[in-house]
Amino acid sequence: MRRIAIVGAGQAGLLIAAGLLARNYDVTLVTNRAAEDIRAGNVTSSQCMFDASLEIERELGLNFWEDTCPPVEGIGLNAVNPEAFGEILFAWAARLDKKAQSVDQRLKMPVWIDEIVRRGAELRIQDVGIAELEVLAAEHDLVLLAAGKGEVVRQFKRDAARSSFDQPMRALALTYVTGMTPMPDYSRVNFNLIPGIGEYFVFPALTLSGPCEIMVFEGIPGGPMDCWQGITSPEQHLETSLGILEKYIPWEAERCRNIALTDAKGILSGRFPPTVREPVLTLPSGRLVFGVGDAVVVNDPITGQGANNAAKAGKVYLDAILARGAKPFNAAWMNATFENFWAYAQHVVSWTNSLLTPPPPHVLKLLASATGAPELASLISNGFDDPRRFHPWWFDPAASEALLGRTLPRAA
Ligand SMILES: Cc1cc2nc3c(=O)[nH]c(=O)nc-3n(C[C@H](O)[C@H](O)[C@H](O)COP(=O)(O)OP(=O)(O)OC[C@H]3O[C@@H](n4cnc5c(N)ncnc54)[C@H](O)[C@@H]3O)c2cc1C
Repeated sequence: MRRIAIVGAGQAGLLIAAGLLARNYDVTLVTNRAAEDIRAGNVTSSQCMFDASLEIERELGLNFWEDTCPPVEGIGLNAVNPEAFGEILFAWAARLDKKAQSVDQRLKMPVWIDEIVRRGAELRIQDVGIAELEVLAAEHDLVLLAAGKGEVVRQFKRDAARSSFDQPMRALALTYVTGMTPMPDYSRVNFNLIPGIGEYFVFPALTLSGPCEIMVFEGIPGGPMDCWQGITSPEQHLETSLGILEKYIPWEAERCRNIALTDAKGILSGRFPPTVREPVLTLPSGRLVFGVGDAVVVNDPITGQGANNAAKAGKVYLDAILARGAKPFNAAWMNATFENFWAYAQHVVSWTNSLLTPPPPHVLKLLASATGAPELASLISNGFDDPRRFHPWWFDPAASEALLGRTLPRAA
């Protein structure tokens, strides 16, 4: 039986563990936060996952919240008038073909950890560095490092050619709340673009105490939405969240008249540079470690792709491990497996990065035109489930014009 070590009990690591256990692999799961620590800690993400990613979880029997998690049924966009903050320039919404869902990782990962142990994995609670990776590599046929944004992932070399930015592009904050007025007609990720300031989006989710809404703030560094330093209490965090809405997007403030924090740990702020890393780490002994998930491709949350990407990477890696049979997990196999994933992920990265700098005129035109063009609004919305669909028209002005020609309603 082949022995696989997985470092990191997050979206990527646990999903791969489940797939390997189902095929009778011997799995060692090593992580630095026990289930109870995750459950008692701060929120980590807004983790909205779209249907293709949810389907991977369903196939592995990990979809425990299918019926209890409020569905996200669509995507909406409001562009704020740069000449008059507080006014809408254009707005549209469209339904997703299939629902999305967000289950608080404080709820999801502890249940998954227990489930993976129940299915037969050995669990070790340990903060892994190079010395521990050496031990794991000596004991196992393959070591996967799925440590997310942990310090240890810096051991993978940054891939300068594939990384567009070398600094954080947004100051991020999360505020988990109850009591928000729902959107009319159908639930959705409601995006608000505030030119020169940042973005705010909000959508329903399931947290430890039940249904909630997650407020996500993406502030341009140095601007007025980069305002989370020095906040010392959850109440102050909530107040700051509301202050932003009142000033720039009053229609969102209106939905918040009766909100309260889900719990004192339902807040987060931070920043990180979107980065692609080389996926293979050679340890001092010459043994190899193979990176997966955020460890090697970490995106800004603006498009809500990180957990989706981690699930999709997990599926590609899992299939490659199973297909490898008894052959060695060497560097050539690791690089080929990563390139197979990159064939997909490059589209996620390029689309996500395109939203972190001021949009070119053809993208602005596309977004504005979707107001009167349901087919175009639907195309953009459903692209979140598979960002390959944005190519080529999101990037190429001529392809964008051709798309408008096909999707704009003709005058009668
Ligand atoms: C503000 C914000 C909003 C987001 N919103 C979304 C969204 O709406 N949709 C979406 O798809 N994604 C979103 N993401 C991204 C998503 O949460 C991540 O991309 C995803 O969780 C990555 O999964 P992973 O398995 O690679 O890493 P993680 O889920 O981070 O798991 C890493 C694991 O490794 C462990 N670990 C770390 N270091 C060590 C170590 N040295 N030794 C042992 N164990 C270690 C950690 O404890 C953890 O268990 C968001 C992220 C942020 C910050």
